[in-house]
Amino acid sequence: MISKGNLPTGRLGPRQQAREALRAFTSNRQLRNHCGRVPHSGLRPLYSNAKAEYIKRKTFTCKSAHSCPCCTPRVLGVKRDAVMTWGNRVYGRGGTVAALVLTVPHTRYDLLSATLKRLTETNARFRRKAKKLELKYGVKSSWKVVEETWGRKGGWHPHINMFVELPRDMSAPASREFLEEFVTLWTESSGATDHAISRNAQTFRILPSKESWMVACKYVFKHAMYSPQKPTIEIDEHLKPWTILDQAIAFGGMWIALWREYEEALQGTHRVTMYGGR
Ligand SMILES: [Zn+2]
Repeated sequence: MISKGNLPTGRLGPRQQAREALRAFTSNRQLRNHCGRVPHSGLRPLYSNAKAEYIKRKTFTCKSAHSCPCCTPRVLGVKRDAVMTWGNRVYGRGGTVAALVLTVPHTRYDLLSATLKRLTETNARFRRKAKKLELKYGVKSSWKVVEETWGRKGGWHPHINMFVELPRDMSAPASREFLEEFVTLWTESSGATDHAISRNAQTFRILPSKESWMVACKYVFKHAMYSPQKPTIEIDEHLKPWTILDQAIAFGGMWIALWREYEEALQGTHRVTMYGGR
């Protein structure tokens, strides 16, 4: 028999265990009250694996794209597949994909919500100008994937991973020229004239083959796929949110505060966005 409102702990995998622990300090009501809880009606003992599977599917319902160890990998898995398909099509029609990392200036003391706001505003200004540039070079579509890391030295560091389609008839020098202009436009949009940010903080590289594209795409989404880590108080740079969660569960204290800040700042934001057509 399973008790009302709980899955038996013996059956829980690491992701479910993390989600159960997270319940104690999450501010996401959906995740705390509903996700992972067995619904009251029609509750039966678990007769078979098929039944257990069914209950699992029915009960992981918060669908958070940021902070649920169970739902986030599913939600982002679907997005990753869409981005992967898009890229494969680009290579199928003879084009290539460029991968960019775009950042905004911040200090280690800036709140995540403040830096995220700056990132969103920069992106809005950037998109307005980028359209013209894309038309000039015949660039039709791109994807934006937002990623957040935290470090003791640098604080919160939200940044954008971008994939841009370079059309088939675009020469190598033209591609570089376009990307240089693209990145300059971003830096201008960030209004970073008085900050210690240079063009060099932004990076781009052209992915020459479909294989390199697939590796890059998987890599960008890797941070969103929860893989339990052995918590250690020593680690301190470029931490993924999931590492912070594991630290919070193991050590509490500042790690819980950091996780809460992450969860609250990210609520209602889009992690993956497409521009242009398929
Ligand atoms: Zn969930």
